[in-house]
Amino acid sequence: MQDLRHTDITYLPGIGPTRAKILRDEAGIATWHDLLYYFPYKHIDRSRLYSIAELTTDMPFVQLKGRFLSFEEQGVGRKKRLVGHFTDGHGVMDLVWFNGIRYVTSSVKLNTDYIIFGRPSLFSGRINVMHPEVESVDSLSLAKMRMQPYYTVSEKMKKRGFSSRTIERFTSTLFSLLKERIPETLPDYLLERLHLMPLDEALRAAHYPSTADELSRATMRLKFEELFLIQLSIIRYARERTQRLRGHVFRVVGPLFNTFYARHLPFPLTEAQKRVLREMRIDMGSGRQMNRLLQGDVGSGKTLVALMAMLIALDNGYQACIMAPTEILAEQHLETFRTFLADMPLRVELLTGTVKGKRRQSVLDGLATGEVQILIGTHAVIEDGVQFRNLGLVVIDEQHRFGVAQRARLWAKNVEPPHVLVMTATPIPRTLAMTLYGDLDVSVIDELPPGRKPVKTIHAYDNRPDELYRGVRHEIDAGRQAYFVYPLVKESEKMDLKNVEDEYLRLQQIFPDLRVSMVHGQMRPAEKDAEMQRFVKGETQILVSTTVIEVGVNVPNASVMVIQNAERFGLSQLHQLRGRVGRGADQSYCILVTSYELSRDTRRRIQIMTETSDGFEIAEEDLKLRGPGDLEGTQQSGVAFDLRLANLARDGQLVQLARDTATFVLDADPTLSAPENKLLVEQLQAMKEGHENWSLIS
Ligand code: ADP
Ligand code: MG
Repeated sequence: MQDLRHTDITYLPGIGPTRAKILRDEAGIATWHDLLYYFPYKHIDRSRLYSIAELTTDMPFVQLKGRFLSFEEQGVGRKKRLVGHFTDGHGVMDLVWFNGIRYVTSSVKLNTDYIIFGRPSLFSGRINVMHPEVESVDSLSLAKMRMQPYYTVSEKMKKRGFSSRTIERFTSTLFSLLKERIPETLPDYLLERLHLMPLDEALRAAHYPSTADELSRATMRLKFEELFLIQLSIIRYARERTQRLRGHVFRVVGPLFNTFYARHLPFPLTEAQKRVLREMRIDMGSGRQMNRLLQGDVGSGKTLVALMAMLIALDNGYQACIMAPTEILAEQHLETFRTFLADMPLRVELLTGTVKGKRRQSVLDGLATGEVQILIGTHAVIEDGVQFRNLGLVVIDEQHRFGVAQRARLWAKNVEPPHVLVMTATPIPRTLAMTLYGDLDVSVIDELPPGRKPVKTIHAYDNRPDELYRGVRHEIDAGRQAYFVYPLVKESEKMDLKNVEDEYLRLQQIFPDLRVSMVHGQMRPAEKDAEMQRFVKGETQILVSTTVIEVGVNVPNASVMVIQNAERFGLSQLHQLRGRVGRGADQSYCILVTSYELSRDTRRRIQIMTETSDGFEIAEEDLKLRGPGDLEGTQQSGVAFDLRLANLARDGQLVQLARDTATFVLDADPTLSAPENKLLVEQLQAMKEGHENWSLIS
């Protein structure tokens, strides 16, 4: 049999150079293999004929056999429509067209049998079908009726005369040409073990199933394969890396850590914090390089845990550094660290874009000699000029703002790569984490420090602003501060959304005796920092901003957050924003302001926010509502998944099965050198050719 991956699509009858180009550009179909894997997005069961009497409007699609009794044009001008009176021999119904009227009247004959196909709807009190497909009984012989595939066709393709039917012709031609079986891609022992459908059968059934059940078994096999190969590649890579890279061994927990623990720690650690520290100590003492993801909700005390891990590095003669996504956060970390460490004999320095001249040189010198033991910084830390004497641990705070490539540059900062701790407050649902960070060990802080009061979250409509302002005024009078968050910076002509600059002026009018600061992403960094600092220091009572405050900012005195146009924000974004309040001992409030008319999904999002403050629950819901492609963090992660069928949100169990199976295979044959695994090696190779990115995940 020919090599499908290398058989050009033009070798298929019916596809010349012009069509081939459109297929390649618009649908990524260049070879026979590509066409085989261009799966229908749905099938419609055309094996069944309905009778007019049984139609209801909740049927998605129906198919009827019968004849047209007459056609009638109704209305004039743009309201003109064609009504065909259609009978199945028992009842009569109307089929309605608003466009293509001339085509229908000229091609459809009366008193001839047709199969009509479409979605029943209600029109002036009666069930009818608008714009049905009409086919003569001969062209679609009853014997041929089956589950019909529907393929995605882009707008451009439509303009060039492509329809789902066009693709259907191509795939059916292709299958009729493939007389031999399509070569299997999974070893027999796996097919048997998991009762999977062979590839040949699965591909044919994915396009042309004979029953819904066959379709679902075919899809399952293909989804499994996608997920399994990803897991196989991640786990193999992680194991290989573990063997290849030695990690710095932090043998002792020494005086710095112990002194800090005994004398400086202002409160007892939570059980979760202790557990995470133990997990990290085991990693860092093991002789292998630590690659750990630390997930913990906003305010769960990740920073402190990171600081203590850094002290262990110092105790063993290494330097440590922490990178934050913004200058404000880096500065806050510096302040936090200096407060925590107080008079301990340590040199902690800050390196950001604004640290310049002599100051910068002194930090750089200190890093090179090892005098600077802890470095806190932004992206500036990974610049080439920054050389450490002996970097042992890198902490990356709020990981989703850091790309994979940036992380990779950090590794080069020492001969042997430092231990890496990646911290994120955006909880990642388990199935996604298994895939996105499948090679990282994961620690979770699932407990907040005692005494925190959960933020009260309230949904408010935007037609009653006075009540809202009274509430805010009440909190500010009690000495608190408030955030007002908006989706846009400047007024947009297209969308009627609240925007920062207008609202800044308006809030000053509403609260003439209060001071208001404003920050948004279009301000210069220095300007932004200055405004932010005024709020941090309590000089202003209200901060008006876009989502730039989303990550990390800590103002415990702020007890109110008003999020305007909350319908414009995603769930995890709302959760991140809300995490800015409720950081002190006082009851805090988050008010989600929306318009009255909301889509079902939006209403559900807002409802979830008012019902739970559990970040993991929110992340799971987010994944369900939006799908993994949209999830914050996935785009920036630099990992491109080529999942054609599997869906990380819906196929959680399959992800687990894929992971377990990959582990099973690699346990038995770590190097995949056994003859029965030859197919897998070939598959991984083919996948790698498609995605250079894989080897970069870290
Ligand atoms: P995160 O980075 O996880 O959002 P932080 O590290 O900023 O959280 O911690 C939030 C606040 O909680 C900080 O003021 C910190 O000092 C405090 N904190 C951390 N751990 C504890 C603890 N075990 N008990 C009480 N307060 C804690
Ligand atoms: Mg933090």
